[in-house]
Amino acid sequence: MDLAWVESHRYASDRGSLALRPGERLLAGGTWLFSEPQSDVTGLVDLTGLDWAPWENLPDGGLRLAATCTVAQAQQAPWPAPALARQCADALLMSFKVQSAATVGGNLCLALPAGAMIALTAALAGEVLIWTPDGGERRTPVTEFVLGPERVGLRPGEVVRAVDLPARTLHRPTALRRSSLTAHGRSAALVVGRRDPDAVVLTLTASVPRPVVVTVPPGSSEGAVRAAVAAAGARVGWYADPHGAPDWRAAQTARLAVEVCAELTEGGL
Ligand SMILES: Cc1cc2nc3c(=O)[nH]c(=O)nc-3n(C[C@H](O)[C@H](O)[C@H](O)COP(=O)(O)OP(=O)(O)OC[C@H]3O[C@@H](n4cnc5c(N)ncnc54)[C@H](O)[C@@H]3O)c2cc1C
Repeated sequence: MDLAWVESHRYASDRGSLALRPGERLLAGGTWLFSEPQSDVTGLVDLTGLDWAPWENLPDGGLRLAATCTVAQAQQAPWPAPALARQCADALLMSFKVQSAATVGGNLCLALPAGAMIALTAALAGEVLIWTPDGGERRTPVTEFVLGPERVGLRPGEVVRAVDLPARTLHRPTALRRSSLTAHGRSAALVVGRRDPDAVVLTLTASVPRPVVVTVPPGSSEGAVRAAVAAAGARVGWYADPHGAPDWRAAQTARLAVEVCAELTEGGL
């Protein structure tokens, strides 16, 4: 879509150039920004000019995904276990054209319940690295950064620089289940499980307005898993939109969580 009100476009080249003038908006892949009218946007500041490496290995064995890392590039990162990144990219059901433009940072900042890069990074206990306008930086867990649909914990002038994934979660076994109303529809419920030594950590997205983490002991009964998921969903409320009714989403999430736990628990539940 043409953004009819945009009069300027400039590439950010350093931190100083990220200071937004009135009417300016940060542009990453543009897959959402160009998808609907933005009558308040008169200028674009293109983050791709910063030339950040899409990913970096961190000294402690963790992995950094740059905010400008595209969904396609994220799948090529040196994951110890690459399946989860691929499954999350597939969960977005984008065409290859969208995958090669949409970024991890854009997905997080848009904060849609079906944000599969949110699911990926929240499930691996990711931390958002945020550049503050005074030249400093701060960190916040992905699960606290995403506050609700199109609502994140960014203050004026702040920019997401990267998401750091800790070494302790990158090597853990994971399982993903997804449900939607139609085969190629947007995710209505997405459950990612991570098997830690002493727990199964379930991250719920798509069916809830913001990512929710539920931890259950390995070998929990089906009833216990369902009860834990129901309680967690009730705390934030089940999401309602044309992609699924809340009660259906609650039922789907519980079913998917049981399946994920079974896959990650030796010998089933
Ligand atoms: C066919 C199609 C299918 C889609 N399916 C899904 C889906 O299933 N789930 C889903 O969540 N989304 C979906 N989207 C929406 C969108 O494409 C994705 O969320 C995408 O990841 C957004 O990333 P982007 O880089 O294109 O963001 P942009 O459109 O460039 O930006 C999105 C917003 O984030 C802000 N922003 C971007 N980067 C930063 C940063 N580093 N710091 C601060 N602010 C920033 C921008 O200013 C803007 O407000 C879909 C879009 C299309 C076209």
